[in-house]
Amino acid sequence: MRAAELVERWQVGRADDPGSLRLAELAESFGTPYYLTVSSVLRERAEALRGALPAGVAVLYSVKANGLLGVLAELATRVDGFDVASAAELESALACGLSGRRLSMTGPGKRDDDLAAALGCGALVVLESLDEAERLVRLAAGRPARVSLRVNPPFELAAEARMGGGPRRFGVDSEQAGEVLQRLAGLPLGFEGLHVYPGSNCLDADAIARAQRATLELAVGLAPLAPGPLRSLNLGGGFGIPCFPGETPLDLPRLAAAMTDLAGAAATLLPGCALAIELGRYLVGEAVAYVARVLARKTSRGRSYLILDGGLNHHWHATGALEGRRHLHYPIAVVGGGGRAVETVTVCGPLCAPHDVWAEGLALAEARPGDLVIVFQSGAYGAGASPGGFMQRPEAAQVLA
Ligand SMILES: *Cc1c(COP(=O)(O)O)cnc(C)c1O
Repeated sequence: MRAAELVERWQVGRADDPGSLRLAELAESFGTPYYLTVSSVLRERAEALRGALPAGVAVLYSVKANGLLGVLAELATRVDGFDVASAAELESALACGLSGRRLSMTGPGKRDDDLAAALGCGALVVLESLDEAERLVRLAAGRPARVSLRVNPPFELAAEARMGGGPRRFGVDSEQAGEVLQRLAGLPLGFEGLHVYPGSNCLDADAIARAQRATLELAVGLAPLAPGPLRSLNLGGGFGIPCFPGETPLDLPRLAAAMTDLAGAAATLLPGCALAIELGRYLVGEAVAYVARVLARKTSRGRSYLILDGGLNHHWHATGALEGRRHLHYPIAVVGGGGRAVETVTVCGPLCAPHDVWAEGLALAEARPGDLVIVFQSGAYGAGASPGGFMQRPEAAQVLA
C-alpha cells in the first residue's frame, strides 16, 4: 500500500491539512503515542463488505484482531456475530449487546472457565479435539452445548499466516475427522457443523476462493459421517489488507462473485447448511492509525535515525519483530511533512532492543524532534498483540473518533 495514498485519505500531508491539525490536537489532549480509531471508516468497511457478499453468508468478526469495546460496539450491529478466543473476549461481546447465540469460541487451548462462559450464554463452541469435547460434556453437566468441529484441512491458504495443511495444533486432521465425528455422535452435545481455517492475511481473491471451494468439498465428504445434518459451515476467512510495500488490496468484487457461486453450490450439496466466514484484520485494520512523536534524531556513521516514543511495545506486528520482516515496513508518514525535503532514515522505537525498528532505509520527509509520525493500517493486532509490559513503558492511549 502506498503511503502517499493514505496521506491523502487521512489528510495529513501539509501541516495545515485538517487531518494534521486534528492529530496534533489529539496529541495535546491524550499524549503520545496513541491509536486513533475512526468509527466512520469502521462502519463503512463493514457495510461495504456486507453489501458485496451474498446475503446467505454470515460474517463473524474475530475479536482477537481488536477487542476495544468501542470497536466491538460499532461492529455489533453490522456483522452477524463475533468469534471469541477467551471468556474475557466473550464478556466484552456480551457487554456490547450481542446475544450468546451470535457468538462462537475458537482456540486450541480453551480453559474450563472459557468453556463455562460459552456454555453459560449459549455460544457455539468450536471443538478442536475429542478431549475438549469430553471436557465440555463434563462441564455442561446436562446443560445443552452447541458445538461444531474444527477440521485441519489437507490444504492451506498460501498467505502470511498459514493455519491449515500439514501438522497443526488447530482442529483435528481431516483424515481423522470422520472418526471424531462418529465419536461425537455418542456424546450429549448439540452438533451444528464444521469449521475450517486454512490461513490468514491473503490478498489473492482467487486463492481464497479456491480454499473456500476446497472447504465445501471437504465438508460434503464429511457430512454423511456427522452426528446430524450440517447446519453450519464456517469457511474461515483470510481476507488480507495491504500493509507492506508492493501489496495491493484484495479484489473484493471478484471474491464476492466466487462466493455467490459457492453459496449456490452449497445450497444444492448441503441443503439447510448456512455458510459463514470470520474476519479480523479486514474489518478493522484500515480504520485505525498509530501516532507517535519523534523523540530524537541522530546520525551514526553516515546513517540517519529517528527515534519515536513508541515501538514494538505497542505495535509489535508493525515493527521488524516478525521473522523476515526487517526490511519491510507499514505505510508511515510524517504528519504535516508534505513539501519538506525527503531523506533516507531508519525509524526506531524507544526500546533498548535491536529489533525495535519501524522501518529501515525509508524515504521520509525530514522530521524533527516533536514532530508526529503516523503509522497507517494499524487497526488489527496492535496493542492487544504486543508485549506492552516490555520495559514497563506507558501504554498507548486509545482514541475513538
Ligand atoms: C486469527 C483468526 C481469525 C482472524 O484472522 P484475520 O487474519 O485477522 O482475519 C479468524 N479465525 C480464526 C480461527 C483465527 O485464528
